[in-house]
Amino acid sequence: MKLAIYPGSFDPVSNGHLDIIERAALLFDQLIVAVSINSGKNPLFTLEERVQMLSEAIKPYSNVTIDSFTGLTVNYAADKQARAIVRGLRAISDFENEFQMALTNKKLQPHVETVFMMAQAEWSFLSSSVVKEVASYGGCIGGFVPAVVEKKLRDRFGF
Ligand code: ADP
Repeated sequence: MKLAIYPGSFDPVSNGHLDIIERAALLFDQLIVAVSINSGKNPLFTLEERVQMLSEAIKPYSNVTIDSFTGLTVNYAADKQARAIVRGLRAISDFENEFQMALTNKKLQPHVETVFMMAQAEWSFLSSSVVKEVASYGGCIGGFVPAVVEKKLRDRFGF
């Protein structure tokens, strides 16, 4: 069975993330969306909230599950006996950091491949940070995130 993990902060999950999830789920038998606990970022949503929103959003995909992890992504992937780590690439700005991470991970765990999927043009501008910024000023975020996330952001920012 070919298992892959799709790690990230998912703070919160966006339509760009969901596009990667949908496409990766077609390439692998099983996909684990793995929410990073110690991303070093200061998340808007708690781990539980991020997992809950993701769980709702991935319901249409029968071979996708949600998990969370702490520590090195590549060690988590190896523990799960994953064949690959899936990452989304939006713009050239993503490339340098991802390239460095992929090569480091390959050195640490040679059996785990990093598979990059290009963001769809429609979502290539989209990040969780942009979504949060727009929401914080009461802007319309319905076109960027699934309904469960839109509601959560509206509740959080009171609009
Ligand atoms: P991280 O903190 O690990 O970058 P993110 O939740 O920001 O976590 O992103 C997780 C993964 O999803 C990363 O590989 C990122 O490049 C990718 N990603 C984020 N937004 C998009 C998008 N709009 N389209 C495609 N991939 C995306």
